[in-house]
Amino acid sequence: MNAYLVETESSLVAVDSLLTVSESRAFRAELESFGKPLRAVLLTHSHPDHYGGLTELVAGDDVPIIAPRGVIDTIARDDDVKEQILRPMFGDEWAKERTFPNTAIADGETIAVDDAVFRVIDLGPSESPHDSPWVLGDDERTVFLGDQIYGRRHCFLADGFFREWLQNIERLRRRFPADAVLYIGHGGPASAADWDWQRSYIVTFVDAVTGADWTDPDRARAAVVAEMKALLPSEELQFLMELSIQPVAAQLGLVDAAA
Ligand SMILES: [Zn+2]
Repeated sequence: MNAYLVETESSLVAVDSLLTVSESRAFRAELESFGKPLRAVLLTHSHPDHYGGLTELVAGDDVPIIAPRGVIDTIARDDDVKEQILRPMFGDEWAKERTFPNTAIADGETIAVDDAVFRVIDLGPSESPHDSPWVLGDDERTVFLGDQIYGRRHCFLADGFFREWLQNIERLRRRFPADAVLYIGHGGPASAADWDWQRSYIVTFVDAVTGADWTDPDRARAAVVAEMKALLPSEELQFLMELSIQPVAAQLGLVDAAA
């Protein structure tokens, strides 16, 4: 997965943090090798693989960690549940003490660091319960997109906002110039050509879940996995897609939510 550093004349700005303690420590070490102070951290959405490493990233620096109010509230609301899920998976590599964003920003507002101006887009629910891509510069050719596009990896749809995600794909693809570089959370960089791939991944997944025979849930799940592997013959992040099958089937009323 990706987090980013933007170097300005006298400062650094980070976009997102990483998931594990050791990755985040390495990211901090890289930051320190520039010999410039960290002036802000910008968050692209509310998922733990993007905020879990904030404690190591800021390392006690008093910096604003900036996101829309909805992203801040979602992280605070869901962090206990993420702890339950991630601790068994990652052990001590999931930070014991998490740092949350501390500075709210409204849709379309900017933050300037030296001559770099970042503008936030408050998307609301999309890939996660609350998403907030950032655009660098007035020409909008440099975009920190978060997980609105995955770089040819399997995707996480378990939060169930696929309708909003599809709408946001159309909204964002109209907004940015054709030659914009899209810096994404997993893989990439992506470009305007990748919107179609992301749309087809989501549509194929929802169709596969809808079309499966849920009288036999194990067979239904296997059928969805087979269809997604036919679309994308890769194992990268496959577990995220598999985690999404049951929640989306429940959301579509195909299985009991408790099953
Ligand atoms: Zn992610």
